[in-house]
Amino acid sequence: MCRNQRPHTNHLVPISSIELKEPLINYCKVHPSTETDLRCGRCDRYICPQDLTHTPGGIRCTECAQLRRPPMYELAWSHYLRGGLAAAGAALALGFTGALLLAPRTFGNFFYLASALMMGIAAGILVSEAIERATGGKRGTAMQLFASASIVVAAILRLLFGDNLALLDRDVGGAMAALVGTVYAWGRMR
Ligand SMILES: [Zn+2]
Ligand SMILES: [Zn+2]
Repeated sequence: MCRNQRPHTNHLVPISSIELKEPLINYCKVHPSTETDLRCGRCDRYICPQDLTHTPGGIRCTECAQLRRPPMYELAWSHYLRGGLAAAGAALALGFTGALLLAPRTFGNFFYLASALMMGIAAGILVSEAIERATGGKRGTAMQLFASASIVVAAILRLLFGDNLALLDRDVGGAMAALVGTVYAWGRMR
């Protein structure tokens, strides 16, 4: 308590405890003129309603709210480029493979439609894998759009490669495969 070991007779409050007391009025670290009692739950700095963000873990300052974002949703331009190239490459490969394995038909028996369903899922897996590998596992809206565009382009290329573009509006199997593939990839890249 007392710095000097001698017993004291008066009831003075030690100076050190006054100095350590926090000021009663606190100010926002970003807006020094704004009084506040709110603190960031992560770094403990004072924040005001102007710069607080609500997260599942409580309120956060702008900086900490950004830090909380999972890295797979942080994208640089190189990721868009890689994702786009992977989507284009996958579209080309899938369109070619699709023309060979699932020749367009204007009618569909059970076996043909089952094949289309499985190829649609396979297309969704392949496109997602290609984009994930090229970008190091990035996700989000942009990657979802890349994957969907890749599958739609693949479906059109499939008709082009077989010189069947006239069947575009009657190609049941292709439409089904493209739909299933898009739904799968969209969910996976989310
Ligand atoms: Zn913080
Ligand atoms: Zn503030």
